[in-house]
Amino acid sequence: MAISPPPPTLRLVVDAEALVANWRALDTRSGAARAGAAVKADCYGLGVAQCVPALRDAGCRDFFVAHWSEVAALLEHVPAHQVAVLHGANTSAEAAYARATGVRPVVNSLHQALIWNEAGGGPCHLMVDTGIHRLGIQPEQIGDSTVRRLEVEVLMSHLSSADEDGSANAAQLARFKGLKNAIGARELSLSNSAGIGLGADYAFDLTRPGLALYGGIPRAELADAIRQVAYLKASLIQITDLKQGESVGYNAEFTATNDMRIGTVSLGYADGFLRGWGGKDNVLLHEGRMLPIIGKVSMDMIVVDLANAPALHVTDWLDVPYFLPDASRNSGLSQYELLTILGQRLRG
Ligand SMILES: *Cc1c(COP(=O)(O)O)cnc(C)c1O
Repeated sequence: MAISPPPPTLRLVVDAEALVANWRALDTRSGAARAGAAVKADCYGLGVAQCVPALRDAGCRDFFVAHWSEVAALLEHVPAHQVAVLHGANTSAEAAYARATGVRPVVNSLHQALIWNEAGGGPCHLMVDTGIHRLGIQPEQIGDSTVRRLEVEVLMSHLSSADEDGSANAAQLARFKGLKNAIGARELSLSNSAGIGLGADYAFDLTRPGLALYGGIPRAELADAIRQVAYLKASLIQITDLKQGESVGYNAEFTATNDMRIGTVSLGYADGFLRGWGGKDNVLLHEGRMLPIIGKVSMDMIVVDLANAPALHVTDWLDVPYFLPDASRNSGLSQYELLTILGQRLRG
């Protein structure tokens, strides 16, 4: 007997229209450059299957993942030559996979350059380290014969501190400018989301926004251009009348000082709603009404005070406030982490 499962009691709603609007805004703010898209980590947790076709249809043609394991999901939606793997190929198996699929490795070291040349080479990108000291060849290695043999499409570098003001950005920009003619790359790329906020000088030919596509605001300059994309909703699975003196949740951290109505919500730390967010001033919302979270967050549940919405029923939906700049301030987590911690059940 084939019966499909009933609808889930929690969900991540991805506003694809807002995603596309964000990409267009970032593309416009990239000036003469075009915007690509960082789609690593399953589009920062929001789902390749939903986000990548929307970005592709909007006109995006440069997609960046971190791992080779992320490639197959991309190739269901976009041509291989539009996909780049930021970690590059350190083994002949990885290089062979790049050659067989036509996906572009980002060459990050002399070792990776050698591996790529030995595999037969072909179009690739080259990452040069202008100060982040994470991945990338050192500027003085650009003249190495192994590097000179590469067929470089995009020469790229990555900013360490684009979400801050300080001397690091200008220093990296100057180093990158100094290298732009050092190798015959077809195009140049420096900026992530925050880098786009730094202005046209930083855009070159191609920008690589990730966070801001998905609703993150890493610099104030982008605030009026970026819309929220990720919305979290969870439904009530039980309503209980609690008597004065009774406690809620593990370790009985909340005790009722009066009789009250409480609701149990189908969302927990396994979904990315962390335990540390319980017991503070955090709330869930129903039509704008605030429902304070009480007691400890469990793996699959949180409990809210229903005083402000006494007419709610089991199966009614509540909203989790998830405007990233605010949620980041309230939680102490970065806007990046708030996206990538979202659990698999939200995407069911
Ligand atoms: C993740 C990543 C990006 C995107 O950065 P955001 O800050 O999310 O815009 C761009 N370039 C590289 C090399 C990255 O690793």
